[in-house]
Amino acid sequence: MTYEGFRGFLNLVRQSGELAYVRDEVDPDHQISAFIKRSGGKTVFCKNVKGSYIPLAANVLGSYRQLEILFDKPSPELIAEYQRRIQQPQAPRVVADAPVKEVILEGGELDLRKLPIPTVNEFDGGRYLTAAIIIVKDPDFGPNLSLQRLQLRGRNETGIFYNPVVHLKTYHERAEERGKPLEIAVAIGCDPALHIASQITRSVDVNEYELAGALRGRPIELVKCETVDLEVPADAEIVLEGHIEPGRREDEGPFGEFTGYYHGSLAEKNRMPVIRYSAITHRQNPIFQSVYLGKPPTEGAFMRALPAASDLFNLVKEVVPEVRDVYFTTGGCGRFHAIVSIKKRSPGDGKLALSAILASRIIIKYAVVVDDDIDIQNMDEVEWAIATRSQFDRDGVVLTQVPGQLDPSRSRPDNLITKVGIDATKPDDKDFPTVCDVPKEVLAQVERSWSSSVTTDPEEILADWSRDRLPQLQETGHK
Ligand code: MN
Repeated sequence: MTYEGFRGFLNLVRQSGELAYVRDEVDPDHQISAFIKRSGGKTVFCKNVKGSYIPLAANVLGSYRQLEILFDKPSPELIAEYQRRIQQPQAPRVVADAPVKEVILEGGELDLRKLPIPTVNEFDGGRYLTAAIIIVKDPDFGPNLSLQRLQLRGRNETGIFYNPVVHLKTYHERAEERGKPLEIAVAIGCDPALHIASQITRSVDVNEYELAGALRGRPIELVKCETVDLEVPADAEIVLEGHIEPGRREDEGPFGEFTGYYHGSLAEKNRMPVIRYSAITHRQNPIFQSVYLGKPPTEGAFMRALPAASDLFNLVKEVVPEVRDVYFTTGGCGRFHAIVSIKKRSPGDGKLALSAILASRIIIKYAVVVDDDIDIQNMDEVEWAIATRSQFDRDGVVLTQVPGQLDPSRSRPDNLITKVGIDATKPDDKDFPTVCDVPKEVLAQVERSWSSSVTTDPEEILADWSRDRLPQLQETGHK
């Protein structure tokens, strides 16, 4: 199945039954977040957001289901499909005519407050753009795409938060060294391939547009901005153009993070740069996009699931020949906990894999390695493997006093954590008991016929039940 742009993908999600369409008016202050949390991973569409004429879509990559739709593959094949596609970067193509230019607002017409920008969590310091792809350019490094939060400050200003390790910081510093303001374009409502590409960690000169083109299997179409020297996705829903004001820093935050916490005290503000906007361009009847961040599960985990899993897959493969699948659990915020399945060849393979996983990223805190008969996205199966195939004194790995990241429980002030790994593969034992389960072909046959042969509708059950003269189900009135 194929699609065109953000709205095209939303339509594909709708056809797959994964779109939760909210009919009633919703309040951008916290209520959109509540709908997203209630959605169970579905994409949420709010057609009527209080205070704005623009509808909002959120949780666009809210679960593995949307990734399956995007890549047109079932979950266990996603890493292989991602790796196949990402190997063929496609240079973007600049076009003259673009849907995102259907409406151009400059000067007094420009007013960010008319966008349906939500207040995400209870103690957040204000309204935040959370699905904004930040596009910048450097004469040597080319364009850079990343997702950063933008705090609404007024008609034509937002704050911008970025952490010290992102490429954007390098671009900003280099612009300041040249004595120039850093020009910025903010693209909202883009092909989700661009969101995934923005989460890929490569060297600073890698062009994320080329990676997005790889994921799409065709060049991303770009169009020149009106007021800054940047190119933006031609079919974005909305683009904001502006620049970071040189030298200026303002209070930013607090903002609830993907870890499910406010880092730092609520009273403490960050001192962050400010973007001043010079134009908004958008499609006719644009759709705004938002991402929920907070206590997991949140979309942040799924947006970076494949780049992160693919990187770890390659690292583990260096020490264990047959890696089957990699999964960052949603409860672990999509970053702290990794589950990896392998086809074990020699005793010790599980421990080797664990060492590679725990050493790979400072943020990884718990790792479990299982055999390839375990569905690693199913925590019941993973826990079953831990319960029945591991002994911690024999199969556990503990790394104490190692550097950690964003872990509220880390020891301070040195930021040290303890990492734990469990090798829950079957011990190298030919006598290991046989698993009891229903034959695979019977399970598959029931899976295929489930929706046609089963109903959970209470009325339908009653009608069918009575028709078949089964024992009376309704209350008879006497006890
Ligand atoms: Mn980059």
